[in-house]
Amino acid sequence: MTKPILIVGGGPAGLAAAHSLGTVGRPSILIEKEDALGGAPILSGYAKLVPTGEWAKDAIGGMVDRVTGDSNVKVRTGTTVTSFDGTPGNFNVELSNGEKIDAEAAILCSGFTHFDSVNKPEWGFGTYEDVVTTTQVEQMISSGNGVRCPSDGREPKRVAMLLCVGSRDRQIGREWCSKICCTVSSNLAMEIREELPDCHVYIYYMDIRTYGLYETKYYWRSQEEFKVKYIKARIAEVTSDGEKLIVKGEDTLVKRPITIPFDMVVHAIGMDPNVDNPEIASTFGIDLETHGFVGSENKYGAMAATSRPGVFVAGAATGPETIDDSIAQGHAAAMAVLSGMQEPVDKSA
Ligand SMILES: Cc1cc2nc3c(=O)[nH]c(=O)nc-3n(C[C@H](O)[C@H](O)[C@H](O)COP(=O)(O)OP(=O)(O)OC[C@H]3O[C@@H](n4cnc5c(N)ncnc54)[C@H](O)[C@@H]3O)c2cc1C
Ligand code: SF4
Repeated sequence: MTKPILIVGGGPAGLAAAHSLGTVGRPSILIEKEDALGGAPILSGYAKLVPTGEWAKDAIGGMVDRVTGDSNVKVRTGTTVTSFDGTPGNFNVELSNGEKIDAEAAILCSGFTHFDSVNKPEWGFGTYEDVVTTTQVEQMISSGNGVRCPSDGREPKRVAMLLCVGSRDRQIGREWCSKICCTVSSNLAMEIREELPDCHVYIYYMDIRTYGLYETKYYWRSQEEFKVKYIKARIAEVTSDGEKLIVKGEDTLVKRPITIPFDMVVHAIGMDPNVDNPEIASTFGIDLETHGFVGSENKYGAMAATSRPGVFVAGAATGPETIDDSIAQGHAAAMAVLSGMQEPVDKSA
């Protein structure tokens, strides 16, 4: 009997990998540690996705339905992998629910962890209730409750969005750019303006990285159509005068200190390596790259390969990725398994 492919993580990347394998009749077993599939877009309650504008619950929910309706895919939620031994084509796997399985190969789609803003205390999160994260604003919109100040439920009249929170910040050991937060913030700013036309929204940035085609649809549109204001600044601190939140910093274009009051401050949080990565690396015997994401080898050849033959990786497990790229990588990893690319590449050749 054909052995299944083990897929770890039921987010966009894992769902794509399971779907690809299922379409060619290959069995897989999808292991998800949480009680539901869908990854960050579903588990964290994202609203309308960049760049399609589709609601996450519809777009990613559709991917979940497709996989749960596929008889080739066995889903185990609330489960993790506790041991993984063997060689390509012949792995022995133990799961936290006590189940033992044999697997042909493994694809790690274990994603990322949202940056915890309490690690940036000078910017007010955890101290002031009305300092929130982009994920919280996504949840306010997707729940249908609207964007409100958590302290008293009022509609904010002035919102500041601070970019690069937990990214591009050497002081707290996070040098990487999280890739999608500029675009997500521009998108959320437009959503806030649409819902609350009297609310002024300011985006404080170091650089704007609405890369590729997103520049027109998000950066320019948010300014020209939605009147979102962008301030190039270095933020020093977020405090309160007892009534308003006060954002203090330096406008780095005119090189002057700025102190502006707001009702709500939003941290555009970045993508950290999955907190489970040290354990995942030890269980699967694979290497992590220098920042703590799962190392992917030979990007021009054996796409999706890790340091261990027969173990592949896809999506935000490898570093900050968008949903569409994570999905593409999930499909690519399935293809790598199918085409028997488990052999390590001879780097001396
Ligand atoms: C605020 C915010 C908004 C965003 N909005 C967008 C957007 O609009 N458009 C866009 O393209 N991208 C967006 N992104 C990026 C998006 O979240 C990622 O691209 C996407 O979630 C990556 O999918 P993934 O499957 O690789 O990982 P994840 O979504 O992180 O899924 C990983 C899954 O693996 C599970 N898992 C983790 N560890 C284990 C383990 N040890 N065992 C078993 N299961 C495990 C997790 O529970 C999770 O279900 C946003 C990011 C942030 C921070
Ligand atoms: S995408 Fe934008 S907000 Fe996110 S880390 Fe990069 S520059 Fe900062």
